[in-house]
Amino acid sequence: MTTHQIELAGVNKYYGAYHALRDINLKIRKGSFVALVGPSGCGKSTLLRSLAGLETISAGDLVIAGARMNGVPPRKRDLAMVFQSYALYPHMTVEENLTYSLRMRGVGKAEARRKAEEVAATTGLSNLLGRYPRELSGGQRQRVAMSRAIIRNPKAFLFDEPLSNLDAALRVHMRKEIRALHDRLGATSVYVTHDQIEAMTMADHVVVMRQGVIEQQGAPLELYDRPANQFVAGFIGSPAMNFVPARAGADGQSLVLDLDPPQTLQSPKPVAAGRALTVGIRPEHLQLSGEADAALRLPVGSVESTGAATYVTTATQPELVIVLNSRVTIRPGEMLPLHFDPSHLHLFDKETQVRLA
Ligand code: ADP
Repeated sequence: MTTHQIELAGVNKYYGAYHALRDINLKIRKGSFVALVGPSGCGKSTLLRSLAGLETISAGDLVIAGARMNGVPPRKRDLAMVFQSYALYPHMTVEENLTYSLRMRGVGKAEARRKAEEVAATTGLSNLLGRYPRELSGGQRQRVAMSRAIIRNPKAFLFDEPLSNLDAALRVHMRKEIRALHDRLGATSVYVTHDQIEAMTMADHVVVMRQGVIEQQGAPLELYDRPANQFVAGFIGSPAMNFVPARAGADGQSLVLDLDPPQTLQSPKPVAAGRALTVGIRPEHLQLSGEADAALRLPVGSVESTGAATYVTTATQPELVIVLNSRVTIRPGEMLPLHFDPSHLHLFDKETQVRLA
């Protein structure tokens, strides 16, 4: 028996001549929460819709719970899609919204009602079953959308940007609520989002896509610690990783950063002399140091404080962003002595943008 609830092998999708999914290989463990993340147009909705059967794949294999599903119609795949909350039927009460799919499948009224009450108790909607969607808050509507999926007891939940309609505070709250519900139900979930924070905080396994390709997949912190290429490095983490063009020194042990003013660093690993690179360092990994042990000295361009953190932008070309988790008085024009843990430097090949092993 496979422990994978969903398996995609060599999946490709064309819209006419447009190659929307390129050789997708993905295994989704039973009980896991997988996020598909990437910029708009990268193919994440196409991938989700292909799982659901709303799109037919052009090549490859799709297996759900051990059975090949290519060509099987959506209603026979036993998956539930959760959309943004506005996909509720406005003229139906919460209970009717929940029981609609059951009633369509011939489940009796009393049985459907019993199931609605059971699910409503799980999602905190017990007192709202008689209300219409317009009489609910955004968060409550999202719970109805979730409940409507739960009541079908599907093999997996497919979420398509379900929180993008909600305001920032509610989004943070619903993130936790959806994840907690997933754990409570022992569900398998696939969640599409363009928001890397959402992906990082909710998922066990994050799949980063670009232009129809899976750029990298793995545990959230694996992607943060060891991004496979510059795209993933820049996409995961906020504020984004700083990138500086550089060249390995003649000794193969140092890195000469092409900054104005230029700076030389000790390389965390040997690199062929003269090799052209891009050096990455995250804003939160640059820290203030004493003059004596500074690895970098950079001129301050601007300073912003949120109270909890101080954001410094350097007056260099390219600009670097530094996040200091302390309240410090720094003024534009000052030279800032900085240090960092060498293991926090990321080296990428200049041409291929691939991480150096
Ligand atoms: P995402 O969800 O990551 O924003 P989509 O999966 O919706 O991206 O789209 C991926 C690419 O496929 C986009 O370039 C989009 O324009 C294209 N695309 C999506 N649906 C169709 C379609 N029905 N016909 C033609 N092209 C499509």
